[in-house]
Amino acid sequence: ANAAPAHFIREIIAADQRSGKHDGRVVTRFPPEPNGYLHIGHAKSICLNFGLAAENGGFCHLRFDDTNPSKEDVEYVEAIKADVRWLGFEWGDRLFYASDYFAELYDYAVELIQAGKAYVCDLSADEVRAYRGTLTEPGRESPYRSRSVEENLDLFARMKAGEFPEGSRVLRAKIDMASGNVNLRDPTLYRIRRVPHHRTGDAWCIYPMYDFTHGLSDALEGITHSICTLEFEDHRPLYDWFLDVLQTPCHPQQIEFARLNLSHTVMSKRKLLSLVERGLVNGWDDPRMPTLSGLRRRGYTPEAIRAFCERIGVAKRDSTADIALLEYCIREDLNRRAPRVMAVLRPLRLVIDNYPEGETEEMEAVNNPEDTSMGTRKVPFSKVLYIERDDFREEPPKKFFRLAPGREVRLRYAYYVTCVDVVKDEQGEVVEVHCTYDPATRGGGSPDGRRVKATLHWVSAAHAIPAEVRLYDHLFAQADPDDVPEGENFTAALDPHSLETLTSCQVEPSLAGTESGSRYQFERQGYFCADPDTTPDRLVFNRTVPLRDTWAK
Ligand code: ATP
Ligand code: MG
Ligand code: MG
Repeated sequence: ANAAPAHFIREIIAADQRSGKHDGRVVTRFPPEPNGYLHIGHAKSICLNFGLAAENGGFCHLRFDDTNPSKEDVEYVEAIKADVRWLGFEWGDRLFYASDYFAELYDYAVELIQAGKAYVCDLSADEVRAYRGTLTEPGRESPYRSRSVEENLDLFARMKAGEFPEGSRVLRAKIDMASGNVNLRDPTLYRIRRVPHHRTGDAWCIYPMYDFTHGLSDALEGITHSICTLEFEDHRPLYDWFLDVLQTPCHPQQIEFARLNLSHTVMSKRKLLSLVERGLVNGWDDPRMPTLSGLRRRGYTPEAIRAFCERIGVAKRDSTADIALLEYCIREDLNRRAPRVMAVLRPLRLVIDNYPEGETEEMEAVNNPEDTSMGTRKVPFSKVLYIERDDFREEPPKKFFRLAPGREVRLRYAYYVTCVDVVKDEQGEVVEVHCTYDPATRGGGSPDGRRVKATLHWVSAAHAIPAEVRLYDHLFAQADPDDVPEGENFTAALDPHSLETLTSCQVEPSLAGTESGSRYQFERQGYFCADPDTTPDRLVFNRTVPLRDTWAK
């Protein structure tokens, strides 16, 4: 087995295991907020958290961080579960919801009030912000900061009971308005929100804030290592403050790592949601989206995504991974696994003048040269074929070695053919190519040893099945779409040509009955996956990735 590459979190955990810091236990969690679909950045976190737990014989919890009811939905909960499973990870009975801790969290808040470490504040949201100060200016204390414990207990109970309007009061921790860390300047713990929650209904009209909820949920679940992204580094003192001040079952350790950024796409859920809501893509699972559901529909395998997450590594400094690396990972996986087939995306008729009318031969084709155990199949060959329009030029430029008048090429698994004539339509466009074939070249070699410089894929016109093929490019042509000029929307950088739909493709008959999700290499073209739009009488394929980088030219 491959030794997992070292990285700083693996080292921290190994050291904790040696010192017995958490009694030898490793318990991690993946804590998505159910306010959108998971993306490839989440995959990095999932692989890391589930991976570290598995490596150490521990557990990884799936916890929905569902404390902001206005943006959350069960649709997202179900999609997230499906995506984590698809990626290859199981949480067993360790499925949790932060909303299940609402009662405990309320009691912790009361405990803080009783200890004189929290108060009800009547400043408006704008005032709270203004009083907070800036990085260079200390904050000012709220006039409500000195309320008595009794008054705070009473007001907080009445906040819970629904006596006050939304936005009129919040509960704040009493820490230090002069702290150099703005997060410690009396952060808000609870706000009033009259919004039904997708799990607790209208049982609550006050909801706890992320910072208060997160560490306490970790502690309630016995998490040992709470792994999060770098933007929470400045929140760690607050994470620790709650756990130090309150009587919690344990004190998990927060560890931050650099989030994954990927070139040619955006990753924030807010931006992805805006693409969906504005109809700029066809839903969360549009194959151009960096979501796991989009990548799955595009034809990505869980194995390729896990390999990518392992390759990019885990670091402490932000960086952007090149989408070419993700594409490399899926090519590497599918090269080993995907059966080869012949599909003509932009068909041009080829007629073999000296081939017998009405005859069909079965040509033997290799299913995967990387894996002989995948066997061979028969592909029908006859007088009229389709070849790729791009594979013929009436006036071939230099270095174009494919079919042209007078030129001989090999038809894959079949014969050598020589172009003898062309038929044009009224506009002068070539609509049919006429060839002769050499019967002695059956199987693709010539007894006299003469060479041809090109091998073309083809399908037999009488046997081929029509198909629709969707060719995708990157959502954004520019590498860093987040890097937009001031005042300009990120969507201005969307590539209007990121989807090209070809509706008159012809594929070999072995693809009859292809089921949604099946993956193939279309010879000489790339990797393709049958789209869920496929039905028994309509084939639809998505191009997962071309065979080689063509975009990076
Ligand atoms: P966004 O900022 O896109 O809305 P988020 O961080 O709010 O994402 P959560 O649902 O809170 O999304 O994320 C769940 C977990 O996934 C968190 O622990 C978060 O740190 C991690 N995560 C989110 N995005 C990335 C990323 N790009 N790279 C690595 N981990 C990520
Ligand atoms: Mg979040
Ligand atoms: Mg966020």
